[in-house]
Amino acid sequence: MSIKANIVHIEEGLGERARLVAVTKTKPVEVLMEAYEAGFKRYGENKVQEMVAKHEAMPKDIEWHMIGHLQSNKIKYIVPFVSLIHSVDSFKLLKEINKQAAKADRVIDCLLQMYIAEEESKFGLLEEEAIEILTSPELEFITGIRIVGLMGMATNTDDEAQIRKEFRRLKSLFEQFRTYQSERITMRELSMGMSSDYHIAVEEGSTLVRVGSAIFGARNYAV
Ligand SMILES: *Cc1c(COP(=O)(O)O)cnc(C)c1O
Repeated sequence: MSIKANIVHIEEGLGERARLVAVTKTKPVEVLMEAYEAGFKRYGENKVQEMVAKHEAMPKDIEWHMIGHLQSNKIKYIVPFVSLIHSVDSFKLLKEINKQAAKADRVIDCLLQMYIAEEESKFGLLEEEAIEILTSPELEFITGIRIVGLMGMATNTDDEAQIRKEFRRLKSLFEQFRTYQSERITMRELSMGMSSDYHIAVEEGSTLVRVGSAIFGARNYAV
């Protein structure tokens, strides 16, 4: 199937429940332009340098989503144009985003990335660490950011019950954290689900799915 057909197929399956973020990491601008020409304008990248280069090369009415682990010293390059940062996994990072946002005269929407998988390697906050951020008195003064929801990645496994359990846990944290509603916090986006598990994620309440290979084919990291 073509890129366009894949996007249409996935969006039809999502319906009104969730929005699609097309994950284009490692894919060249020509591939993104094919999707753009088909009318698609929401892309996810996991590396600052790659996102900046693609942003420069492409039309300016695109929503850019940062989904990868961020280093504080690189935030300044994406703050002028990024739509949503899915991968905030420390208070330090949030404060650095705030600092750069102030310089760029923007308010940056952020998701807290939660640790929900059984794998050791995944980034993310523990429940108590997220609560520490959400209840911090400092938050009031960090006016360059808004926390608009949560992101999480399930364990990379064929065990559907395990994946569903982890997404359910994230959804339950999402509901629980709604009690921290404030000027800085609105729990409205739940970013969960990738190519292999977005069907499950949507059933469990995802509002944003991050899908790459199911649209663009397998990634070739050797290139
Ligand atoms: C690469 C990536 C995805 C998309 O993965 P696919 O399996 O290709 O759909 C989603 N989320 C994050 C954080 C990623 O790094």
